[in-house]
Amino acid sequence: MTTPVFQVRGVSKEYSGTPPVRAVDSVELEIGDGEFVVLLGPSGCGKSTLLELLAGLQQPSGGEVLFDGEVLSHPDRRLGVVFQDASLFPWRTVQRNVELGLELRGVPAVERRSRAREQLAAVGLAGFERSYPHQLSGGMRQRVGIARVLASEPEVLLMDEPFGAVDHLTRIRLQEELLALWEQHRRTVVFVTHDVGEAVFLADRIILLSPRPGRIFREFVIDEPRPRTRGDLSLLEREAEVYRALHELDRRAGIDEEVVA
Ligand code: ADP
Repeated sequence: MTTPVFQVRGVSKEYSGTPPVRAVDSVELEIGDGEFVVLLGPSGCGKSTLLELLAGLQQPSGGEVLFDGEVLSHPDRRLGVVFQDASLFPWRTVQRNVELGLELRGVPAVERRSRAREQLAAVGLAGFERSYPHQLSGGMRQRVGIARVLASEPEVLLMDEPFGAVDHLTRIRLQEELLALWEQHRRTVVFVTHDVGEAVFLADRIILLSPRPGRIFREFVIDEPRPRTRGDLSLLEREAEVYRALHELDRRAGIDEEVVA
């Protein structure tokens, strides 16, 4: 059997404070090569924290995260991270924003330019190389952010609500574009969202987290064939299944609160 890309072993993360916050608790998770895994759950259940642990941007308080069989003790060039806000530099053109990571690594200008152009074309932005971020829509800016990460040729894409700030129809289009890119390269993707429809449409597997502390509540294998068609009955049935689990989570939280009260 091949080594999983990630092995999360008994991982907990506590933030100091009074009282301290246990954001992630006793998480056991393996993610295989080429898998599209979605971390789903209500706000505050530790999704971003878990993603940052997978990115090496945070260190666990307990347990360990292994990437490619080795303990992940710092960010790794093979891990590309996309956040909700593309954080583009307003004074740089689209092209130069995409080149940024390569520039910092000392990649020669000619290679940098051609890689940036290639990735901009891959996200549907050929022709916008000389534009500035303020001239683009929110969806286009997010595409530039994705192109910038892809230009560094990461093995894994870690995405934290990347389409959270764009309108619904753009979001749907970006989801489809992301899947098309994923189908081409089959890079491993870990994608954070609180949107059930988005999770079911994208995922091979959904990890549903429960809040306070963030634990894995349930896993759903979404093995509907690809390409998927939004609104297909089988996908809607899977959504209903996930919603039922979310209601159960709420019901349990309600019981806990009554006990505490
Ligand atoms: P999610 O992404 O599911 O909304 P987060 O991982 O952002 O969840 O947060 C989980 C919990 O940890 C929340 O209660 C949040 O307030 C807390 N938290 C997150 N980051 C920090 C931090 N840097 N310092 C203190 N508490 C934090």
